[in-house]
Amino acid sequence: MNKERKRILTGDRPTGPLHLGHFAGSLQNRVKLQKEYETFIIVADVQTLSTNFDHPEHLPADVWQVTLDNLSAGLDPEIVNIFIQSMVPQIAELTVFFSMFITVNRLRHNPTIKTEAGQHGFEENMTYGFLGYPVSQAADILFCRADLVPVGEDQLPVVEVSRFTARRFNELYGTVFPEPEGLKSETARLVGLDGKAKMSKSLGNCIYLRDSTEEVRKKLMSAVTDPARIHKDDPGHPEICTIFSYHQAFNREESPDIEERCRKGTIGCVACKKRMIQVIEEILDPIRERRIRFEKPGLIEEILKTGTEAACIEGSRTMQLVRGAMHTDYFDRRKS
Ligand code: ATP
Ligand code: MG
Repeated sequence: MNKERKRILTGDRPTGPLHLGHFAGSLQNRVKLQKEYETFIIVADVQTLSTNFDHPEHLPADVWQVTLDNLSAGLDPEIVNIFIQSMVPQIAELTVFFSMFITVNRLRHNPTIKTEAGQHGFEENMTYGFLGYPVSQAADILFCRADLVPVGEDQLPVVEVSRFTARRFNELYGTVFPEPEGLKSETARLVGLDGKAKMSKSLGNCIYLRDSTEEVRKKLMSAVTDPARIHKDDPGHPEICTIFSYHQAFNREESPDIEERCRKGTIGCVACKKRMIQVIEEILDPIRERRIRFEKPGLIEEILKTGTEAACIEGSRTMQLVRGAMHTDYFDRRKS
């Protein structure tokens, strides 16, 4: 049951279309590493229910959308496994076993849980599932014994819970799991168009991978820049400008020059935004072309079915090891 190649597990909550924050934070690394690592991409529908349990009717369209976005970004369905979380029963089994030894305090004090509980107004009244989502995420990562988890900065404390879970399981029952490492990208947190700390589906401050040229233009032209700059030759402060942070994320080579010209007041905000529009369009054009190819009727379903089958096979292999280690392989035990 040794793996031939190291494995990646990562993915998204199907809560809406993916945006440039996902692209910078995780998608780019997924695409870059897909040949080197055996890759499992989770469409985390159960994790969506940890905040959106009252709207399951959105799930089917969002599961399709997130899958299409991943494929359009450049993941090759011939080599990666894209699967639906709730259709891999071994993930649910592992969640139950792990939840026996992860303490409530560890979850309550997790920085991601605290921030997200605030965002969703859950501080006073948190569900068992929301508090436990890092345990369920440990099961998402460990069901395929993944080694590497490319994520944005907000998810690193949750990956820490998975690392602890693997360590603790191995200590308690014997070594089954690798200790998975979080892989942070060079832009691990892309700010929103409104200047808020994070571009996020729930905040509506995003450029989506499926946006049209016209939408991209409108959104970038009205994005927040340096409020102190009234005239185009006023000296600017790139460190507080949203558009400049996008130059740093997506136009790395040119950004030192833009920074200097902004500080001297020799490039105005309009010119700087127009250049950004060109850069984003260069990223989005090939994504748009691939999207048309994957929109073929039935194709997404076929890709998800194949990926989910592969995930279930791997999940069964892991559960065999887990049950052996935990003395819960009752019938196999009796034979030997
Ligand atoms: P939601 O608000 O529904 O939680 P989200 O925008 O946080 O949505 P997720 O599906 O939770 O998206 O996250 C998927 C991956 O994308 C995670 O690894 C997350 O860290 C990364 N990510 C999301 N937003 C950003 C961002 N603005 N910058 C960098 N990485 C991001
Ligand atoms: Mg999130």
